[in-house]
Amino acid sequence: MFVIVLGAPGVGKGTQANLLSQAFTIPHISTGDILRDAYKNQTQLGIEAHRLISKGNFVPDELVIGIIKETLLEDRCTNGVVLDGFPRTLPQAKTLDALFIELNTKDLFLVNLTVGDEEIIRRLTSRRTCHDCHSVFSLIEIEDDGKCPICGGENSLFHRSDDTEEVIKKRMGIFENQTLPVINYYDETRTLITVDGAQTIANVYQDIITKINATKL
Ligand SMILES: [Zn+2]
Repeated sequence: MFVIVLGAPGVGKGTQANLLSQAFTIPHISTGDILRDAYKNQTQLGIEAHRLISKGNFVPDELVIGIIKETLLEDRCTNGVVLDGFPRTLPQAKTLDALFIELNTKDLFLVNLTVGDEEIIRRLTSRRTCHDCHSVFSLIEIEDDGKCPICGGENSLFHRSDDTEEVIKKRMGIFENQTLPVINYYDETRTLITVDGAQTIANVYQDIITKINATKL
């Protein structure tokens, strides 16, 4: 099965995608991780993406699509994936539709997480990421002692430089311009599972599972 987790930055896509990946034993594919891996493996696409990101530029659709397509065709993705952070633009969504036809994808679930703007800013400014296992936490939920609750790494939690209020507002503007049309597009063409992301992590997760099961019937 394929699950696409949609929503604004800071809504909890990564956390929920991770839980869904474990529940359905399919890989969690995050665009950020894929771009980092592609660079680590020094693939041509990865090097080009890194060059753009390090200059503060966006990675163009065709580059992201190329890397995602390479990944979806890997053996580990045969039974499906949970996509997080993709598609981010309408051209990406339309290309993905074509790829789903090519892959003969049947079970596709679109999860749309919603949270108010103020809550998003509050969450992102208190966000910490683990250097070692890439888990993301909020200081609202964990102790601020630098220790990762997932892998136990000491001093492995860091504050992303792009998690300042100014940058967050810019990212939210980009989300409204580029990604909101994707959500509207899916709302018109497919069944969108909308879940209130302002609940606790456990309740958001439970809501998603309940609604996925209801959609399956
Ligand atoms: Zn960790």
